[in-house]
Amino acid sequence: MLRTNTCGELRAKDAGKKITLCGWVDAHRIQGKLSFIMLRDRYGITQIFVNPKITKEIGEIRRESVIQVKGEVKKRPDNQIKKELATGEIEVSADEVNILSKAAPLPLELDESVSSTEEIRLKYRYLDLRRPRMIKNLTLRHKAIQFIRDYLDKKDFLDVTTPILTKSTPEGARDYLVPSRIHKGKFYALPQSPQQYKQLLMVAGIDKYYQIAPCFRDEDSRADRCPGEFYQLDLEMSFVEQEDILKITEDLFIKMVEKVFPDKKISQIPFPRISHKEAMEKYKSDKPDIRKNKDDKNELAFCWILDFPLFNKQTEEDFFHGAGQEWGPSHHMFTAPKEEHLHLLDKEPGEVRSYQHDLVLNGFEVGGGSIRIHDPDVQAKIFDLIGFDEKQKKEFAHLLEAFTYGVPPHGGIAPGIDRLIMVILGEDHIREVIAFPKDKSAKDPVMNAPSEVTKGQLDELGLKIDKK
Ligand code: ASP
Repeated sequence: MLRTNTCGELRAKDAGKKITLCGWVDAHRIQGKLSFIMLRDRYGITQIFVNPKITKEIGEIRRESVIQVKGEVKKRPDNQIKKELATGEIEVSADEVNILSKAAPLPLELDESVSSTEEIRLKYRYLDLRRPRMIKNLTLRHKAIQFIRDYLDKKDFLDVTTPILTKSTPEGARDYLVPSRIHKGKFYALPQSPQQYKQLLMVAGIDKYYQIAPCFRDEDSRADRCPGEFYQLDLEMSFVEQEDILKITEDLFIKMVEKVFPDKKISQIPFPRISHKEAMEKYKSDKPDIRKNKDDKNELAFCWILDFPLFNKQTEEDFFHGAGQEWGPSHHMFTAPKEEHLHLLDKEPGEVRSYQHDLVLNGFEVGGGSIRIHDPDVQAKIFDLIGFDEKQKKEFAHLLEAFTYGVPPHGGIAPGIDRLIMVILGEDHIREVIAFPKDKSAKDPVMNAPSEVTKGQLDELGLKIDKK
């Protein structure tokens, strides 16, 4: 290793140790003949004392250059302890300073108090991510995911990876399509969610499945939605009722908040359960913000919304891609209707309530799921009701066939990781919890994607671009 310690690690008890640190120069202050370097890495900042001889040798080091410092840990006198720094009890007296990489002047200011435009922040995301706040967000996101994995592992869930190059499963958005070279004129679709695969895993007998799954949806940008892709905790279980899914999700998030976000306070446990009808009447929203005090940054008000209608009337703004003209599924087309409403499917589809459950946090929908249809006849009927033609129905023949070979009753949920972390952290925009987000126009500003490809690549795929 080029270092013995990190820049956030050394304390008074380390005084006298010979150490080597590596990091970025946060500041280099020259005071007469000697100088001080504030050396930073993702763990913290350490002050380096540079004696006159070395100061003369190295000159002034440009901020954000990468250096290696060898030296001795010195305890500061009690009256000089820097309380604002975790390493403030000590400084390192440098015997050697090696410049590993010089930095050019930065296109953006890393100091949180100076705001940079969103465009610059996203284009130079690898610099923006050097900010302590961004490192903190990425770290907490990691810890939350790690907690989820450990929790589900202890409960016998299997993490199963499902294909990215696949076929469309409509979740209400447009698909991202990938042309096939071998099968010219045919396309893969990137999954809007692994919905069908997780249901097939239930048929396979994997009775508890989860995955931190990437989902791809071609939809417009919003503060709580990045265009392109997002990650969800995709979860499915066999032999369960809705109650079981609500219970395990609730327990998981209560424990995750306790462990990973100890400053936050969940306002009501168990999470209140509100019927869709009541939510619409009382709050005029199916994602009500039921916080007691909206100014309290640490309040987390979870609630469940239940008893959704199975279908919504298709509207221009909220068109469910993949369905017909009149009715679109409120959740998706695999959601089970309540048994007592089955007889209404033909006569009054708008009256049928379903086993959909949405998890809402501080006014944001942070997850949705349902008990699924496992009767192929009922599934076929739903396809008819949402106006699928024969060709569309054939696209789902594999699922209907799978259900003829012994399918356990099953259900699940899929909380969105990015959005959940955004709301818990109280960030205004989902981009703040994603390392390399797309911008408003669905571009990746770091890599400059999407980009043009060569004529040769298009020819190989049998594609022609109409630039009109
Ligand atoms: N596939 C659903 C979604 O992405 C979640 C689920 O029903 O489990 O919203």
